[in-house]
Amino acid sequence: MLIFAHNKLGKLVSINDVPNGKLCQCTCPGCDDELVARNRGKIKAHSFAHTSKPEKSSCLMTALHRFAQEYLAAQEQILLPSVKYKHMGKTKVRPPKLVKILQGSVESPLDKYKMDVELETSVGKIFIEVKVTANCSDEKVSYIKSNKVATLEIDLSQFLEQSIEAVIDALRNVEPYSTWIYSWCDEALKNEIEKEIEAERVAAQQALEREIKRKKTTAKRAINNLIRSGTIGLPAKELPFTTLIEAKKYQLQAKVLNAGSWSFNNFQVMIDTEDYILATCQMLSKKGKEANKLFIFFPYSAEALRDFKPIPNSAVLCRLFRKGSYPYKWLSFPEPSPHKLKKAQDKAEQAKRESLEYFENYSL
Ligand SMILES: [Zn+2]
Repeated sequence: MLIFAHNKLGKLVSINDVPNGKLCQCTCPGCDDELVARNRGKIKAHSFAHTSKPEKSSCLMTALHRFAQEYLAAQEQILLPSVKYKHMGKTKVRPPKLVKILQGSVESPLDKYKMDVELETSVGKIFIEVKVTANCSDEKVSYIKSNKVATLEIDLSQFLEQSIEAVIDALRNVEPYSTWIYSWCDEALKNEIEKEIEAERVAAQQALEREIKRKKTTAKRAINNLIRSGTIGLPAKELPFTTLIEAKKYQLQAKVLNAGSWSFNNFQVMIDTEDYILATCQMLSKKGKEANKLFIFFPYSAEALRDFKPIPNSAVLCRLFRKGSYPYKWLSFPEPSPHKLKKAQDKAEQAKRESLEYFENYSL
């Protein structure tokens, strides 16, 4: 349905603004054919009719394209569609914004390209590409993006057969029909996101530093307490082994050290860095004889613990930074004598047998 035409002055006019019939003195914006205006009827929608050439779809497209360009350039304000900007895993949204149009023009040059509409607005220069059928070329789109040219594409392809009123409604609120190729505030949103990410990074870094400081203080306090008391609460140590009881396989734990308090002497801090402390002391048996050497590791971070190379076949404790009566765990443990290991395994096996018997009797 052709609803826009050129009048004899070459100005674009709509079917409702011209005299009826040949008196309209209009030509087709697409093919220059002379037109007659059919705008008297009360039932059929008003439209222009070609007089000597067939009406082609390109006539409708050119007319709609020209009308949209001129309409947008002539407005005093425009409701800019909302903007959604994604960057570094974050999304920022700007709601629709009504802005003043200070000046509008059509077919504006931009480097080697022609832009359908150019608007000088209260938020800066904004170009509009009106799409009726053809898409903006990839080359033009990449030029717009890389040069950060605020450009909105409005797709009017669904309005080729619609009334003037429908077209104007669409142009007054373009949000549903438009896409930002590069929005008027993309740069600002990008900066906002980068600032937020930087602030988060700084906050995380500060939290980590506070955590390390807290662990350092805890470690120093723990060391002072150890030196003052001359004793340390060691966690139990169990070694897994497999055994057969009445032809059935069991995985048991042989307890080679009971949890308990041990005396020591010669406590020394061997290494004290920004990341950890490694200390050592000489354990004493219940009778006061020198037993194994004990190493105690105080890591301030997961990295420090991961990078620590255990001392083979030695008693190495790691301080756990949590509350509890035995805030240590074994990182490595010296191999017990075969005699001691056998005794611990026998004890575990005996306990297992007793519990098996108990449940057997219980079920009878
Ligand atoms: Zn035509």
